[in-house]
Amino acid sequence: MTEGKIVLVLLDGLRDDTARLHLGFMEGLVAAGQAGRRTLRCGLPSVSRSLYHTIHTGLAPAEHGITGNTVVAPSRHPSVFSEAAAAGRVTAAAAFAWFAELYNGAIPYDPADHREVDDGDRAIRHGRFYLDCDIPDGEVFHQAEMLVRRRAPDYLLVHPMGIDHTGHAHGGESRQYRDRVGGCDELLSHHVPGWLDRGYAVIVTSDHGMDAEGRHGGDYPAVTRVPFYLAGGPPLVVPPDVEADQRAVAPTVLRLMGLPVPETMRVPPLV
Ligand SMILES: [Zn+2]
Repeated sequence: MTEGKIVLVLLDGLRDDTARLHLGFMEGLVAAGQAGRRTLRCGLPSVSRSLYHTIHTGLAPAEHGITGNTVVAPSRHPSVFSEAAAAGRVTAAAAFAWFAELYNGAIPYDPADHREVDDGDRAIRHGRFYLDCDIPDGEVFHQAEMLVRRRAPDYLLVHPMGIDHTGHAHGGESRQYRDRVGGCDELLSHHVPGWLDRGYAVIVTSDHGMDAEGRHGGDYPAVTRVPFYLAGGPPLVVPPDVEADQRAVAPTVLRLMGLPVPETMRVPPLV
């Protein structure tokens, strides 16, 4: 934590109860007192593009204007990426292409132009983006690890899509869904200890959950309750039995980085 550097792992489509049961490595950090854990209530609609932006701006979809998955527009509000970049901090992402559309002006997204970016004028300076929702989660973690070792970013987003993809195909209470969550836990167990050793604080969270029929978007616990873990950081200030607000993630990241929290981020940070 000494340098205020953050890795945020966004496990797309991970419901809170499944995280508790199947992220054994993360739950082990909590049990050992090396991480804090809370349940977050996500924004609405409980869909990805809207909530990628809620996680990074601290605004609800009705406020930031990215009100659905097919609303393709660039960010118009202060975000973790914009604030960190403006402060001269190095930003990076191994993430789905929608992040390039939101923060790097990559509209329309063209893989030939936008898939690999190393550009100090972009809000995401070092971007490695993908379009295939069935990309192996390990490939995304390996890209992230490469970015850590070569670029030493101050803020790194790691965004695998496999849990969401498997949930849509088989349902959020299926063996396949749980296996994919367990696979991501295995990947976390390989990468997180090294990131902590390098002085990163590591957040693991999700955009939205997944119901038994492979659906999300609405307002009920299977799709709106997601986990939030913080390892290598200070204690969380929200009482353990209180559901926190997903809009708290962005100001939490900026506070951990030692950066000012813009006034658009009105929900108090979790640290
Ligand atoms: Zn989905």
